Amino acid sequence: MFWTGELIARTAPVRRRAAPPPWASPRLDKAIAAYLGLAIGDALGASVEFMTPNEIRHTHGVHREITGGGWLRLKPGTVTDDTTMALALGAAILASGGVDALAAAQAFDAWMRAKPVDIGNTVRRNLIQFRKTGRPEAVASEHDAGNGAIMRVLPVALACSGQPPENTIFACRAQAHVTHNNELSDAAGETLVFMVQDLLAGRDTAAVRARADALARQHPLYAFDNKPRENPSGYVVETMQAVFQAFFATDSFEDCLIDIVNRGGDADTTGAIAGMLAGARYGLESIPKRWLKVLDGKTREACEQQAAGLIKLADERIPALA
Ligand SMILES: [Mg+2]
Repeated sequence: MFWTGELIARTAPVRRRAAPPPWASPRLDKAIAAYLGLAIGDALGASVEFMTPNEIRHTHGVHREITGGGWLRLKPGTVTDDTTMALALGAAILASGGVDALAAAQAFDAWMRAKPVDIGNTVRRNLIQFRKTGRPEAVASEHDAGNGAIMRVLPVALACSGQPPENTIFACRAQAHVTHNNELSDAAGETLVFMVQDLLAGRDTAAVRARADALARQHPLYAFDNKPRENPSGYVVETMQAVFQAFFATDSFEDCLIDIVNRGGDADTTGAIAGMLAGARYGLESIPKRWLKVLDGKTREACEQQAAGLIKLADERIPALA
């Protein structure tokens, strides 16, 4: 007597297959790639933050390796506030079981106390305000249109993926308003989150492009053309224009990131945001191994674990708490 499996084993050479990785679903693969893309774009761009494209050309030719340095004098593979604030937010979401404004504010406050390598002015000012008032919502201000809330928004995109859009919008604003209570920042953050969710759901580039076009219709300041937006500042509009141009003009993870960081300016943040979108678009296989190898090991592990945890949370369909 033999069972069918035994027959196959006798008659055909056994091919041993490695166990499938835990991120075998395309959606989880893209979620992890988005988180790693955020960190890699941050680490790659930090070397050239505040440089002009000309200065970058003069110093690096084309900047394409994670070399550290820059004005923060980083070790290669070290990330900055873009990634560490996203990780602080992601940990708070996982601990709360949803997106809670107070939990996010407390997490950002703890992050600031731990003396991060850099911190934006608006973030610092409104976290100091939170310490005084205990209110996790900054006063609305037309001047707070920096990119500090959108750079850290990825955990919300993952935690709310597959949920009704109104939950996503509610959660986006809860986390953003801790430091940036501004209409332009809100519109950009929500657009990015919906773009990531579209890509995770397997929608094509046309659907994602429609999100960018809708943002420009809603706020014409966001319109972008083919004239390269170089040296983008921390103003959320310039950040988004540069990211959109690089993202839609390239067709690989690597090309997208090299395009965006060589524009200089706020290159760690534009790199982080473009990396998040490119990871969600192209998936893990597309990320150059040489960049993954250099990325700080603990950061890499935290990104992978949080992405998996946040997708699991989304699948449990726990609504936004705040
Ligand atoms: Mg930064």
